[in-house]
Amino acid sequence: MLEKNILIAGLGLIGGSLARTIKSGHPNYHVAAYNRSQAPRDFAIQERIVDEVSDDFATLAVKADVIILNFPVQLSIQFLKILATLPLKENVLISDSGSTKLEIVTAAEEIFKDKAIRFIGGHPMAGSHKSGVIASDELLFENAYYILTTSTLSQPADVEELKEVLVNTRAKFIELTAKEHDAMTAVTSHFPHVVAASLVDNAHDFAAIMPFTENLAAGGFRDMTRIAESSPDMWTEILMSNSDHIVYQIDQFSQKLADVKQLILQRQSAEIWNFFDNARKLRAQMP
Ligand code: NAD
Repeated sequence: MLEKNILIAGLGLIGGSLARTIKSGHPNYHVAAYNRSQAPRDFAIQERIVDEVSDDFATLAVKADVIILNFPVQLSIQFLKILATLPLKENVLISDSGSTKLEIVTAAEEIFKDKAIRFIGGHPMAGSHKSGVIASDELLFENAYYILTTSTLSQPADVEELKEVLVNTRAKFIELTAKEHDAMTAVTSHFPHVVAASLVDNAHDFAAIMPFTENLAAGGFRDMTRIAESSPDMWTEILMSNSDHIVYQIDQFSQKLADVKQLILQRQSAEIWNFFDNARKLRAQMP
C-alpha cells in the first residue's frame, strides 16, 4: 500500500475521529495534525491518534498528500485561501468535513480556478452533541453516510483515492452535488435542529406559567429534543450557510402546522386520524 502524508487540520470531534480512523486503517501513513491550541495537540500525541502535531499550518500543509479541513465552514474557506498561497505538493488532494457544502465548494472552485489542486467536499453524517478531540471516536462514522461532493476540481479517480484514505471509517460513501447535499440535509438535519431547539424553548416559556411542565417532559419530548444540546456555534453557522433551504423548510412546515390547526378547529377527526396514520406508515417505511 502506498504511503501518504495526511494532514488533519482542526483536532476537534470530527478531525480527531478522522485522524483515528485513518491512522488505524493505514498504519503506514504519516498522519499529522494542525491545531491552534495546545491541549488537543498534547492529547492527540499522548493517545497516539496522530504521528505529529503543530500549530504551524503551512509547514504541515506543504508536506501533505491529503489535507482534510475540520473547522467551521467559514474558517475552512479562510484556510483554503491560505492553501492557495502555499507551495503545495503537485498532486495534493484537499477535502473538508463541514456540514454545508455549497458555500465551500463554490469558494474552492473560485480560489483554485487557476491551480492544479484537487478538491472534494466531504460531510461525514455522524456526530455528537459533544465536541473536541477528547470526544473523538474511531467508530463514529461506522455505517453512517459520508457524502462526497463532486465539483470542477475533481475527477472520479480522485473520489476513489479519497475513499481509500477514509476506508476505515466504514462509512457508506455517496456522491452528490453540493446543491443536492444542502437541499436534502436541510430537510433531515438542519431544519430538525431548529424544531428541537424551538420545542425546548416553547416548553421553557410555558413553564413560566405552569412551573411543573418541564418535569413532565418524558420519552417522546426527550427523543425529539436530544439534538437541542448541540453546539450553538456550529448550528448558528449552519443556519447562516444554508439559509435558503432552511427558510424554505420553515415555510413548508409552518403550512403543515397551519393545516393541522385548521383540522382541529374544524373538528375533522377522520382527517386528523388520516394525518397520523399516514405519518405512521411513512415512518415505518423509512430506510
Ligand atoms: P469541534 O468544536 O469539536 O472542533 C472544531 C475545530 O476547529 C477545533 O479543532 C478548533 O480548534 C478549531 N477552530 C475553531 N475556531 C478556530 C480558529 N479561529 N482558528 C483555528 N482553529 C479553530 O467541532 P466539530 O464537531 O469537529 O466540527 C468540525 C466541522 O465538522 C464543522 O464544520 C461541522 O459542521 C462539521 N461536522 C460536525 C458534526 C458534529 O456532529 N459535530 C458532524 C458532521 C460534520
